[in-house]
Amino acid sequence: MYNIGIDIGGTNLKAGLVDEQGRITATKKAPLRFASMEQMGEVLARMAIELTEENGVDRAQVASVGMGFPGPVDDRRGVVIKTVNIPLRFMPVAEMFHRHWDVPVRLGNDADCAALGEYYHYEDKNIESLILVTLGTGIGTGIILNGRILTGVNGCAGEGGHIVIVHGGEPCTCGRRGCWERYASASALIQQTRAAMEADRASCMWDMTGGDLNKVEGYTAFEAMHQGDTSAKRVVHQYVEYLAEGLANYVNIFQPEVIALGGGVSNAHDEDLLYPVQALVLDRVFGKEADVHTKIVKARLGNDAGIIGAALLGRSRQARV
Ligand SMILES: [Zn+2]
Repeated sequence: MYNIGIDIGGTNLKAGLVDEQGRITATKKAPLRFASMEQMGEVLARMAIELTEENGVDRAQVASVGMGFPGPVDDRRGVVIKTVNIPLRFMPVAEMFHRHWDVPVRLGNDADCAALGEYYHYEDKNIESLILVTLGTGIGTGIILNGRILTGVNGCAGEGGHIVIVHGGEPCTCGRRGCWERYASASALIQQTRAAMEADRASCMWDMTGGDLNKVEGYTAFEAMHQGDTSAKRVVHQYVEYLAEGLANYVNIFQPEVIALGGGVSNAHDEDLLYPVQALVLDRVFGKEADVHTKIVKARLGNDAGIIGAALLGRSRQARV
């Protein structure tokens, strides 16, 4: 049997056939294009059907189709509540899909799906709790507790990017100030790097970017730090502090078995990011005297986590892979 996972992004749809071991065996990509939102169900169903046909899989071999949306969903009612970048509002996607293919349909939030994917593929199959923190344009978080996604009463739980770590701090898209993602996302790191360059015309980061602030990337400060640049070193240390503050908040509330860090920034050398973050978090959290602690690790699935997690929405939690 297979499960199909579809990752609905702002500009693309990515679908994957996922086998019983939780591995992607085939994928399909398409630009997100439709004349009206009412066509969404049809577009998704057609994509899933084509994925089976192109790979010689009988539709009867597909146990479920799961979809990850960039926003909150009500999986029980099969409704997408709201999405970022796509104007879906209270859209009954499952019902619309069923007009074309009557297969069990599950809906999830994309960050939650990615967390579920990481959870299923975590090396220790006995864990019950994992939080995935993805450092990107914002900070996406998904919380798995007792083997299930924590959705909250309205599908909006697990928005850890919007916990405030600096009262009255930087304004955020959510309307508050001082949210964690304004300090510890990849975009925030890029901004902090640019500010450090502007304050230090002698920084080697100017050479690295050809004098163009638009060429600053998440890794710029990390690379410059290795060349002995003191401004870059300050940026990295400050960034690690911000990241650790939010993670310590998460640990204090949930004490999860695992926190996995994803997104491009998490690929920095362990000595530069993972190890110092682990040490700072352990130093700050409640329960440091305990003999068991939250493990902070790098996420393993990368861009595939969304498809795998969406596909796994349709699995019972006993069916670990
Ligand atoms: Zn916010």
